[in-house]
Amino acid sequence: MSPADGRILAEVANCGLEDADCAIAVARAAFESGVWAMMAPADRKMVLVRWAELIEAHADEIALLECLDVGKPISDTTGVDVPSAVRTIRWSGEAIDKVYDQISPTPKDCLALVQRMPLGVVAAIIPWNFPLSTTAWKLAPSLATGNSVILKPASNTPLSALRIAGLASEAGLPDGVLQVLPGPGVSLGRHLALHNGIDGLTFTGSTEVGKQLMRYSGESNLKRTFLELGGKSPNIVFADSNLEKAAKFAAIAVFYNSGQTCTAGTRLIVEETVRERFVEMVVAESQSWMPGEPLDPTTTMGPMIDAAQLQTVADYVEIGRQEGGSLIAGGSRILADTGGSYYEPTIFDGVDNSMRIAQEEIFGPVLAIIGFKDAEEALAIANDSIYGLAGAVWSNNINTAHRVAAALRVGTVGINNYFGGDITVPFGGFKQSGNGRDKSMHAFDDYTELKTTWIEFD
Ligand code: NAD
Repeated sequence: MSPADGRILAEVANCGLEDADCAIAVARAAFESGVWAMMAPADRKMVLVRWAELIEAHADEIALLECLDVGKPISDTTGVDVPSAVRTIRWSGEAIDKVYDQISPTPKDCLALVQRMPLGVVAAIIPWNFPLSTTAWKLAPSLATGNSVILKPASNTPLSALRIAGLASEAGLPDGVLQVLPGPGVSLGRHLALHNGIDGLTFTGSTEVGKQLMRYSGESNLKRTFLELGGKSPNIVFADSNLEKAAKFAAIAVFYNSGQTCTAGTRLIVEETVRERFVEMVVAESQSWMPGEPLDPTTTMGPMIDAAQLQTVADYVEIGRQEGGSLIAGGSRILADTGGSYYEPTIFDGVDNSMRIAQEEIFGPVLAIIGFKDAEEALAIANDSIYGLAGAVWSNNINTAHRVAAALRVGTVGINNYFGGDITVPFGGFKQSGNGRDKSMHAFDDYTELKTTWIEFD
């Protein structure tokens, strides 16, 4: 269904439990045949690099699919989502034949090898907010390390994953090594997570479902389960920072992708001495994020993914009002006549960190502004969250910036930037934001077991 006008875009298969059983059997057979798992890393590299090239060659088509399916602005899907997926797959492919295993420091009559082995059959379950990027983040390292993979996209956004899986086949990925199964989380996703034929489960989505998946693992075969979950990230602005740049990024941090971003900077924590002025600057910035038609190249923010998410946002705005937050921008649905789920950039000032709008993930364009007096108080507020995914610190004092960044209990922290990072750095959360790491060479750890071979000489 199109988030921009509510119309049906395409119909795709709705896979059931028998389809999943069949896919798992096929994946197992492919894994055990060694056609991919035992292929030389240099040859796996060639397939992945070819795959990245094919995605690049079809960039416009895939960017359009992602724009229509998710309601993301076309400038984002062409400028961010597709290039980042290409780079992720190419980088992981190029890295895999540079990874050495280890020899341990044994006595001289022994030799001990410590080798990475693929897990076997991996299931990847992904969300709707960054379908192409999360598909690439999961598939690139899991395939590079020799696993067979079954990917279940979110039921409302399957198109880009289906398209690039076809290109993987064209690139020479052997049959059965990658299968994409669209279908509902509560039946198909649950079945995969409970299945004894799945050795590893990699998940990006909500903390609530992540907890359920850990339970499923315990109830079945203790499959390795890696989770990338929700967030309520703090963005801390000190008075001595470049306020203009900080205000611009405070808006980017929360309104990018209509706020449907796990790392969104939804709690803006501002030093009291500049708060009034800074809040005005952020409100001014928010005006350039008025939502519009995703296909328009000048659009910065599209609609919410669907009517249910729109309602969640509206409910939270009402909760924020009742909690005593001061609504200083936005707060309404707009463009309702299009049939799309558009919501204005919305800002609450005077928020207390104990309020629900400061503690719970809204997943929409809603910013909560909280004041602080000193670094100690800023840190106490920032770390007072069940989440620990990301955050940022703005200060031109290197001591303040470093001390606060180091003390933030989050997986990724920006100093004088927001959303910084690329494929070379790991991505994942502390606390209830997850336990795995996507991207970088560290992602290979999630998809491999360490195996020791101990050899003794006569
Ligand atoms: P979700 O948890 O509802 O769904 C994610 C996936 O899990 C979907 O494919 C869904 O079909 C499936 N699923 C749902 N219930 C299931 C079950 N019982 N068993 C197995 N699978 C099930 O999340 P969403 O609404 O699609 O995405 C938004 C959430 O994802 C937010 O909380 C956001 O913060 C998080 N997210 C995290 C990251 C990260 O890297 N940390 C990135 C993007 C999104």
